[in-house]
Amino acid sequence: MTDDLIYRLEKRAEIRRSITTRKSVQNQEPDRIADLLEEAANALRSRSSMAEQGTVDAQDVGSVPTVTATLKPGQPGFEWPPCDQCGSRSLRCGCD
Ligand SMILES: [Zn+2]
Repeated sequence: MTDDLIYRLEKRAEIRRSITTRKSVQNQEPDRIADLLEEAANALRSRSSMAEQGTVDAQDVGSVPTVTATLKPGQPGFEWPPCDQCGSRSLRCGCD
């Protein structure tokens, strides 16, 4: 999704810069809109690469059962730890 948006922003900037009938292009002046489009594309690109790293970090944190440990039975999100023998989260699995 973001890759597509970045591509379209850069494409727009490129198109604007290549329109030879535009006054700013003829005068070789900077195109503020094109600059802005590329700036937005760059910002999105760095943000999306950060988000990808963030996802990896979140997966690492997710493997540590810290959330379950702080919740008490009956609280939203609480889950009984799985049974050591059968892996069931039911209290009545009957293994003990
Ligand atoms: Zn069991």
